[in-house]
Amino acid sequence: MTKYAFFGGEFVPIEKAKVSIMTHALHYGTGCFEGIRAYWNEEEEQLFIFRMREHYERFQRSHRILMISLPYSVDDFCQMTVELLRREKFTRDAYIRPLAYKATEAIGVRLHDLEDAFALFAVPFGKYIGEEGCKACVSSWRRMDDSIAPPRGKITGVYINSALAKTEAVLDGYDEAIMLNQDGHVSEGSGENICIVRDGRIITPPVTDNILEGITLATLMQLARDELGIEAVERPIDHSELYIAEEAFYTGTAAEITPIVEIDHRLVGDGKIGPIVSKLRALFFDVVRGKVEKYRSWCTPVY
Ligand code: PMP
Repeated sequence: MTKYAFFGGEFVPIEKAKVSIMTHALHYGTGCFEGIRAYWNEEEEQLFIFRMREHYERFQRSHRILMISLPYSVDDFCQMTVELLRREKFTRDAYIRPLAYKATEAIGVRLHDLEDAFALFAVPFGKYIGEEGCKACVSSWRRMDDSIAPPRGKITGVYINSALAKTEAVLDGYDEAIMLNQDGHVSEGSGENICIVRDGRIITPPVTDNILEGITLATLMQLARDELGIEAVERPIDHSELYIAEEAFYTGTAAEITPIVEIDHRLVGDGKIGPIVSKLRALFFDVVRGKVEKYRSWCTPVY
């Protein structure tokens, strides 16, 4: 249960963290957010926040895109987050949601001459997509192009693109969507980056293919190369490559590493969770819970 939020410049009980119906961001999608996970380590009785700095650095990049200016540094955001989790006293995995938004109560679509506000809360959190491999479809919705609205920022308004794709996929009986670019290349899922494996090599779309610059993806690419000796490259992926990949998986803070076992009614490989994604997942879950000394600096202890 969530008990607190940081709202209006202070920690308040969650039920006091309320905005007006006239709030700009509610009407025009003029906000940006982050999603950060904290992992409970049972042996150490410690909660670790995973790659918090990198999330707040990306948060600040989203601010630049939206012309949001807040009186907080990355260090301030990190301190507030640790403080929030201490107050919550979570002893299980959690998901942290910082939100910056245009708070002025006024009509008129724009980014300039508006007040900015910041809010933060956390919720207990388990799996986002089912554990045992997910069934994906190529969406009829194309990924928002950077020339229309920037998917590189975690901008609230841009998520209508993701919501359309996710609901279409789920109502059609799949677990998740895969969106293509305007030019027909593979971009990402509704809230995840995507990787495929061909000839034992991990392939993911380049940052110019309208993806969110994922922190889990960067983590994975580094772990694959440095710890598992697996080649990992960024290059455009064709639609039909999805159907012939040996393995495919989503990466994301919420989705973690989710193997995809079926795409558009075709089995991925033999339809079972593949060897590369299995190895990566095992290592990833040790790293995020602070069990791998080399990567311990990615894990901020709360208590
Ligand atoms: N793409 C989209 C659209 C997302 O919402 C997310 C989740 N933040 C990701 C990719 C994965 O990014 P990350 O690994 O940094 O959570």
